Amino acid sequence: MIRKYKVLFFILFLLLLFSLQLVEAKKEEKTNLAGKIITVDPGHGGRDSGTMYGKIYEKDLNLEISKKLKTVLEEAGATVYMIREDDSDLSSKWDAQKKRGDLYRRILFIQEKKSDLYLSIHINWGNGTGQEVLYHPINEKNKVLAESILREFQQKFHTERVLKKTNLYLYSNTRVPGVLIECGFLSNANDRYLLQKESHQQQLAEAIKKGVITYFSQIE
Ligand SMILES: [Zn+2]
Repeated sequence: MIRKYKVLFFILFLLLLFSLQLVEAKKEEKTNLAGKIITVDPGHGGRDSGTMYGKIYEKDLNLEISKKLKTVLEEAGATVYMIREDDSDLSSKWDAQKKRGDLYRRILFIQEKKSDLYLSIHINWGNGTGQEVLYHPINEKNKVLAESILREFQQKFHTERVLKKTNLYLYSNTRVPGVLIECGFLSNANDRYLLQKESHQQQLAEAIKKGVITYFSQIE
């Protein structure tokens, strides 16, 4: 009987040791994102579907990728705010221009959260394939962030797309550092297949996270 207890005690001891090691491993995942505030902006939503292919809407894919991005950034130690967590947009019924009102409130959200940076998640349409990162030079850090993320895309997915500038309203009016990330082309059959796959969405999130980590190590 006593021998039985000894064995049980030994097993419990091993379990405790193992769980302590897990806690330790979790701690080690903390990166230079600890203490950073990041706003994730899933493009479009609600009345605005973004680009679409049949019943596949950009707004839905943006949200799925953004949720995964939020999780990996949080695991790396960042505080993450999502501009939307469901199928809604930020326009008000009083807005004369709904799209402009939606974008204006996204800018306010980014600023009010005192974000260290923001990441806008979108899907492309047109004649092309692969991921793309766009920035506006309103903040000199934007280019560093865009380059860091694009480099991860090049390494992981071998995208041949180059860095681009954007003059779109949100990016040219937000002083907080941030970029526009186009995760692939809904118009391209192969991209379309990948963009709907959970594992690919997860890889996109991981690549963006790595790019953000590199960005902070470069500007600090
Ligand atoms: Zn879009």
